[in-house]
Amino acid sequence: MNYTVKWKKHCTLCRNPLKIYIVFDNLDDYKYISNYLEIYTYLNFIDFSNNNIIRYKTFGSGKAHALCYSCFRNDKSIYSIVKNMHISGRIPRISGDRSLTRKEICEWFENMNKWAKRPDALDFII
Ligand SMILES: [Zn+2]
Repeated sequence: MNYTVKWKKHCTLCRNPLKIYIVFDNLDDYKYISNYLEIYTYLNFIDFSNNNIIRYKTFGSGKAHALCYSCFRNDKSIYSIVKNMHISGRIPRISGDRSLTRKEICEWFENMNKWAKRPDALDFII
């Protein structure tokens, strides 16, 4: 299983990864691993949509900041959240459906790697 999970940016507010993608060494790896990915996603569903929909928002200064979809949806008090973050240095807790953290994403892929080593992994047919 040779692949690398990457992301393009981090959300300005929650620092979670944005636009997650996988880099494969070659086409054979892609074909091989995508079989496992497809089945494992079915067995252990993960929703990357809050991480993969990027929205941009300006906070007073006019500079556009990339946000995950979750932070963007919870933007009612976004300006005060950012202001508090600068004052306290702490990352705000945002309610509702949140995007996935780097740790959650990495754990999911690590668990898939472990599962793929099982001799019966591909016996499961959708
Ligand atoms: Zn966010």
